[in-house]
Amino acid sequence: MHFQDTVVYNRTKDIGSATGTWFAELLKKSPWYKDVVPNFKSLPQEELGPGIDSASSFTSVCINTAIYLPWLVSQCLKHGVKFKRGVVRHVKEAADLHHTRKQADLIVNCTGLSSAKLGGVEDSTVVPARGQIVLVRNDPKIMASTSGTDDGDDEATYIMHRAAGMFVLRMSWSFIRLKGIQGGGCVLGGCYQKGSWESQPDPSMAIRIMKRCADLCPDLTDGGGIERLSIIRHGVGLRPVRDDGPRVEKDVIEGIKVVHQYGHGGFGYQSSYGSADAARKLVDQALGHHAKL
Ligand SMILES: Cc1cc2nc3c(=O)[nH]c(=O)nc-3n(C[C@H](O)[C@H](O)[C@H](O)COP(=O)(O)OP(=O)(O)OC[C@H]3O[C@@H](n4cnc5c(N)ncnc54)[C@H](O)[C@@H]3O)c2cc1C
Repeated sequence: MHFQDTVVYNRTKDIGSATGTWFAELLKKSPWYKDVVPNFKSLPQEELGPGIDSASSFTSVCINTAIYLPWLVSQCLKHGVKFKRGVVRHVKEAADLHHTRKQADLIVNCTGLSSAKLGGVEDSTVVPARGQIVLVRNDPKIMASTSGTDDGDDEATYIMHRAAGMFVLRMSWSFIRLKGIQGGGCVLGGCYQKGSWESQPDPSMAIRIMKRCADLCPDLTDGGGIERLSIIRHGVGLRPVRDDGPRVEKDVIEGIKVVHQYGHGGFGYQSSYGSADAARKLVDQALGHHAKL
């Protein structure tokens, strides 16, 4: 997780589009986070490129989730959490997976998009918002995004360079030792296709994403166009969007206490500490004592 210089470019015409709505807070001249993030400022008009109506820059945070998630698992293990893997068809089945073999006192339902289909939950207001990205080795040294594109209402342009990870490779048989920095890669996005379950990357969209990112940030390709991009892989993810926002709520399903915590759409990482804290309080309320979480 690292701090990164960030620029957000706004086009008034994107207000109301799928991407513009997703970026709504970023489009504001005075967003809620302006006094939270360091170095927030509006860019002067003369620094704006063609078609851009306003822009802000600030220092933001970028998480390399490929490193962050295993780290979270290691923190849980350190604190005595027992992991069990399995697929449940009904939420109540989770109660029987407790490592003590006794039924669990309470289930926290964090099944994301699956809450639309999971037995006992079946929340029809949970839908996917498909995102497609291209991961490249190039390093533009900033994070940047635009509020919309001319390629489609639900397409987006954003660049996020992820923090590098350390690697140490030892091969004793040949006495080779390599130490170094494994690049976190740079994420080029994207789109916000609500209702699409398509899990495969669309090659045409990948080209559009790369072109838009190269135009937005010429430093990405040293001004040389998308042929200068070194592609690591293409990716698709489905954001677990819920129409009325995340559901963090107590429930009782077939006699079993449940705390729901799903539907965090495209902001599950940034809202995770607050949302987890809210869920923890609900768990304490439901159990009537302080849970060991
Ligand atoms: C392209 C893209 C870009 C994004 N960018 C950002 C960003 O910049 N910032 C940000 O904060 N967020 C971002 N997000 C959103 C973020 O990834 C999600 O909000 C977050 O991952 C949701 O986490 P979750 O734990 O609620 O759900 P998930 O990560 O979907 O986890 C649900 C878990 O439940 C398990 N599960 C489901 N059903 C069952 C079952 N029946 N039995 C057993 N296990 C089950 C699944 O295997 C999975 O492990 C982005 C998402 C995408 C796709």
